[in-house]
Amino acid sequence: MTDIRPQPGILDIALYEGGESALPGVPPERVLKLSSNENPFGPSPKAIEAYQACASSLHRYPSSDHRALRAAIGEVHGLDPDRIICGAGSDEIISLLCQAYAGPGDEVIHTEHGFAMYRISALAAGATPVEVRERERVTDVEAILAAANERTRLVFIANPNNPTGTMIGGNALARLADGLPEHALLVLDGAYAEFVEDYDGGAALVEARDNVVMTRTFSKIYGLGGLRVGWGYAPRAVIDVLNRVRGPFNVSGPALAAAEAAVRDRDYTARCAAENRRLRAMLAEGLARLGVPSDTSQANFVLARFPSAAEAEACDAWLRREGIIVRRVAGYGLPEALRITVGDEEAVRRVIAAVRDFREATA
Ligand code: PMP
Repeated sequence: MTDIRPQPGILDIALYEGGESALPGVPPERVLKLSSNENPFGPSPKAIEAYQACASSLHRYPSSDHRALRAAIGEVHGLDPDRIICGAGSDEIISLLCQAYAGPGDEVIHTEHGFAMYRISALAAGATPVEVRERERVTDVEAILAAANERTRLVFIANPNNPTGTMIGGNALARLADGLPEHALLVLDGAYAEFVEDYDGGAALVEARDNVVMTRTFSKIYGLGGLRVGWGYAPRAVIDVLNRVRGPFNVSGPALAAAEAAVRDRDYTARCAAENRRLRAMLAEGLARLGVPSDTSQANFVLARFPSAAEAEACDAWLRREGIIVRRVAGYGLPEALRITVGDEEAVRRVIAAVRDFREATA
């Protein structure tokens, strides 16, 4: 008989279900995946070229200090490369923060409709996740400050938030950073920051305070979700701590090369951001005309709200029969909503047409 058990908290973790990319009975070429907030235009051609050029050096370990990628990110964003850390997706940065700063007896705050990995990483570290209510699907700074206490170690805010698409402004973020207890680190998750016009993802706040960290990803606007690259910008002391915890070769060589080329291709990034804004408006307006409103999204998806949870579920099933995969967000406390990624123009038209057919058929 064995008595092998995981650490307390681990079995409280609900499995994270990554989006499917196939549908039974639907030919692969008919499947339209709009469930993971991927860039419908793919990565910059320069990133693909840089990735392919790595084929001859696959037997080599990658750089362990990510120097070239950190330099490129620093140049493009005007940041100090010594305060940047790279990881296998921003998921890894989130996980490293929890491992390093939260343990049994500590609390990790996240918002009501916040990204699932905050809770998962907190539990994996043995800490206690604390969910704070939002106000009408928008982060509520006062509620977070009221929930913070002597056990709070980390506060995670995605800005813009996934799956709501909403965001809070610079003054609210500064108020939060200034109001937290001195032993709590504020983490601003900027996975969707590039989709917002004139937003630095919280970088200036990281510069101005010693209790703020920003996380970013190459999975969204840069179209490199398959390669798993993310990064964080933090006070030097935090970077030092995270570098001690992470694996030495946590980002692969092809991923580093592709990410560097992607971040340097500013024109491509700007074009993707502009197209996203245009198509996001088309999607949101098209759905609203069908009686399916959404909050103003600042990201590359819209949270479409149906009159009832039953209708959201029925529309999801309808879309799947049409070959369209969107994200049900009942697990995020939003059973009446579907999160729909902004695709290319043909994809946006196809979704609107399918929702129109659904509404007409069920009216
Ligand atoms: N933060 C938010 C808010 C996200 O939506 C996601 C991806 N769904 C991530 C972080 C993680 O992204 P990645 O690990 O691919 O960088």
